[in-house]
Amino acid sequence: MDETRLVERLAAIGWKGDASVELGPGDDAAVLIGGLVVSTDMTVEGVHFSFEWIAPAEAGFRAAAAALSDMAAMGAAPEALLVSLALPAEDPALGEELQRGVRAAGDRTAAPIVGGDVSRSPGPVVIDVVAVGRVAHDVVKRGGARPGHDLWVSGALGGAAAAVAAWSRGERPEPEARARFVRPPDRARLGTALAAQGLATSMIDISDGLLADARRLASASEAGIRVLEHRVPVDETAGGDLNHALEGGEDYELMFTAHPGAKSDILALGRELSVQLTRIGSVGEEAGVLLEDAEGRRRVPGRGGFDHFTVPSGDPP
Ligand SMILES: [Mg+2]
Repeated sequence: MDETRLVERLAAIGWKGDASVELGPGDDAAVLIGGLVVSTDMTVEGVHFSFEWIAPAEAGFRAAAAALSDMAAMGAAPEALLVSLALPAEDPALGEELQRGVRAAGDRTAAPIVGGDVSRSPGPVVIDVVAVGRVAHDVVKRGGARPGHDLWVSGALGGAAAAVAAWSRGERPEPEARARFVRPPDRARLGTALAAQGLATSMIDISDGLLADARRLASASEAGIRVLEHRVPVDETAGGDLNHALEGGEDYELMFTAHPGAKSDILALGRELSVQLTRIGSVGEEAGVLLEDAEGRRRVPGRGGFDHFTVPSGDPP
């Protein structure tokens, strides 16, 4: 069973349409009545990272940045973090290093650690980060993309995947690619500004790869997404490898849709925040995701993107 199906089955057990909840499972975060936004993100040694690759503080930083990325994808301002750690009993100093990394990522967006839990782990290190945020306006959901809207992405993609690919080959990644993996970008200001200015009609963060997350956006919106592959900004650390940008994952950039008339406001916002914002496609009627090349040839991409349940167990991705 793939990860998406499993998450759906588990969500069906937990969610009963309760009145205290404005938005239940199925988006980047849940929204409670009153504008409180909550999500959780788990990072497992040997699945998401290896200590042969990165230091404990870097693992903590990544875990928190991933959780905070989901706040940005809702247009929510992060307010606090809760951190649960499962640790080998013989290494208490490891917990402190992980926590320092989480703290550093939280400090970027003024989200303090307000609690958590610790357990002994008989196996890998597990870091679970709960992010809590708030919206002063409407949240931006995944389901708002409509035919005719433009598709946008922040930053450049594929650097983190290039680092993971190098590690998987037993090589040392380029320092810039490594940096993309260990220090995901902070898009909190971008996400909240897109929401506050009403510029984004739908939004998701790219955690599992542009194509995989575009499918989620398309499916939630009951629409189709066309990605112009020659417009996709490939990070220079990815060595020009479009596949890293399309399927690599771990970029933690924002993908969003917008009315065509919002283009100049979006570009102005990108300049104001010094964030590259690129129009990479559009929303159409036909369900699913299509790739289009510079000559206008279209194809249905294979089911790429990172899925923790289809990776051989025990091996880092
Ligand atoms: Mg997400």
